[in-house]
Amino acid sequence: MPVTVPLLTPDQIAQLPEAARSVVDYRKSGLSLNHIQGCPLDCAYCIRHTYGVWEMTQPRALMPDDEAVRQLVAHPYFQAHHTPVQVFNRATDPFLPRVKEHLFTVLEDLDSRGLTNHVLVITRYRVDPEDCDRLNRLTNIRVTILVTYSGISDKRIEPVNSEIAERSLKTLYAHADRYRVILYWRPLVPGLNDTPEHMAKAVELSHHAHGTVFTGLFYRDEIADYYKANNLPEPYEGTARRKIVPETLERRVLEAFADGGGPLFRKTSCSVSFAHEVPDYNGHYGIRELCDICPAKQLALCAKHHDKPTHDAVRDLARRLPGREDVEIVEITERAAIVAGLDEQPRYFLQHGLGFQFHDQRHPHKPRLHGRADTGWPTDQDAADQTTSKEPV
Ligand code: SF4
Repeated sequence: MPVTVPLLTPDQIAQLPEAARSVVDYRKSGLSLNHIQGCPLDCAYCIRHTYGVWEMTQPRALMPDDEAVRQLVAHPYFQAHHTPVQVFNRATDPFLPRVKEHLFTVLEDLDSRGLTNHVLVITRYRVDPEDCDRLNRLTNIRVTILVTYSGISDKRIEPVNSEIAERSLKTLYAHADRYRVILYWRPLVPGLNDTPEHMAKAVELSHHAHGTVFTGLFYRDEIADYYKANNLPEPYEGTARRKIVPETLERRVLEAFADGGGPLFRKTSCSVSFAHEVPDYNGHYGIRELCDICPAKQLALCAKHHDKPTHDAVRDLARRLPGREDVEIVEITERAAIVAGLDEQPRYFLQHGLGFQFHDQRHPHKPRLHGRADTGWPTDQDAADQTTSKEPV
């Protein structure tokens, strides 16, 4: 009998914060299923802080797996064969010994329905050859395992040893047949895991994956509060709504990979799409400067499928959004559709539905930042000042 996690009672579920009680929600890389929550790995920067479940250090189930899958495929945002799905990416690690059986039950249930959707699974824990065999037996869904690897050795920030992720990556890649493997190199933090040795290690590991994504830290208020309360070295002076990748760090990553690294991407969906040889499902191709590091074959594929939607096409799809039929389209350019009055989740529904970027008018994307925080990127004024200061006086 496989070992699974205990089911919470209705009273226990009622005591969870509202955000944690939501079992299906839309995140940028896909519609996310999270009916198992709780993790003992204790990474200080865990996104669990922002859902109010940091104290849940043991995984618990909010409902049985079959009910969770039913809710996922019945969700108004779910489109068969189309919507990218993520399993257990918010509040636990899917390959923890007790959680793993739930993961496979969900994957096999989706697969048995004949669905061909992308399914993304993010782990930093142990993956064995038997797990790979079971993944290879899935015949319909397009599975990508993203192995989080940081190389952080400060146990206060990341108690779990990065060597576990390294072994899992190599095992997964060596056995990959039906599924794909991504080196998820994150969170990159200046001064913590960005030495030349860290860079060289990532380059080496990139040869054990179908692609590599590098990204920074989500340094939100709740996470900063935790760092302060526990006297942890604060990585940045301020918090940010988006992930932080300072300009100099990005440049050094690109330089390191230019010298013999595997295919490198700034965006998760780009790496997943590349690995499965399909165009990027987030339509990042519109943001032309994002693609300057992409392999030529993939660039050609995304170019071929880049299709600016008409206002009518956006309105038609928006009619499927409960209560959001009156979406306000500010403008549609070759880069993105700018809309007003839509939160993140319905915007992602439109974005994935049309394979085109949808941006919120309130949060404009700045050139060169690739949708990330502006922390560590000089403003035009800073750049002008620096230029001036180099002038002889
Ligand atoms: S061409 Fe651009 S949008 Fe397409 S996968 Fe590459 S980086 Fe992403």
